[in-house]
Amino acid sequence: MSSSGLVAVLEKASAMGASCIQIFSSPPQSFAGPKFTDSDCEAFKTKATDLGISPIFIHACYLINLASEKETLRELSIKSLVEDLRFGDKIGAKGVIVHTGSHKGKGFAAALPVVVDSINSIFRQTHGKTKLLLEVASGGKGKVGSTGEELSQMCEVVGSPQIGVCLDTAHLFAGGYTFDTYEKMESLNKMIQTTVGWESIECMHVNDSKVAAGSFRDRHENLGAGFVGTPALKLLLNSPHFDKLPLILETPGFDDKGPDKKNLDILKSLVK
Ligand SMILES: [Zn+2]
Repeated sequence: MSSSGLVAVLEKASAMGASCIQIFSSPPQSFAGPKFTDSDCEAFKTKATDLGISPIFIHACYLINLASEKETLRELSIKSLVEDLRFGDKIGAKGVIVHTGSHKGKGFAAALPVVVDSINSIFRQTHGKTKLLLEVASGGKGKVGSTGEELSQMCEVVGSPQIGVCLDTAHLFAGGYTFDTYEKMESLNKMIQTTVGWESIECMHVNDSKVAAGSFRDRHENLGAGFVGTPALKLLLNSPHFDKLPLILETPGFDDKGPDKKNLDILKSLVK
């Protein structure tokens, strides 16, 4: 993204009617990292304030694996998150959201110390206000952080106020947590409360899913067009605790151009 693109993203979001956003600091399929000057960051901050867009989240690069046994990949992952957290501080972002990574079948117990070591290394290099938010994963392929229990253990062992959690309706659903009835929604809420705890949840990604519940794949769909459906989203988003969470769309868009006004309007119609 160019420096002018940084401000344009805010204008686009505002024109759509959004009041919070998530951005990438560089193309997420590479470790390029943010290349903005301090004045670019200041301009972004000023524009966000002018347009009333808050909070701001940064989604980390997709190549990151904090659980990797490959030292080079783990080092690149750490460096990338340090850069995004520093950039986040400069633009006043609330959090950098990351897919923790994969243990490639070795099991969560084996991955936990590696992930904790990676996060501790990141926090030794960053001391700002922007938090590192571990996103719930969709399960399968050894993805770390697919259950409330795993997310909670990572947060607990790291034990820093700089760490938090981001939920995602499509990932929860693909990971087997359904919420299409009041009872299931209640049990999901209870699971969150008894594992990570609501105080750790800083953001909610609202997406429908192209794949069925429990299929352990991460495939986002436009709201109402997938297996989750709007009645279930409505039930979940209007339940206690969700009303205070920033809601972020990561839908493919009805024109395949990313989150659009139509998805945002559907989302707004679901939330009372
Ligand atoms: Zn997400």
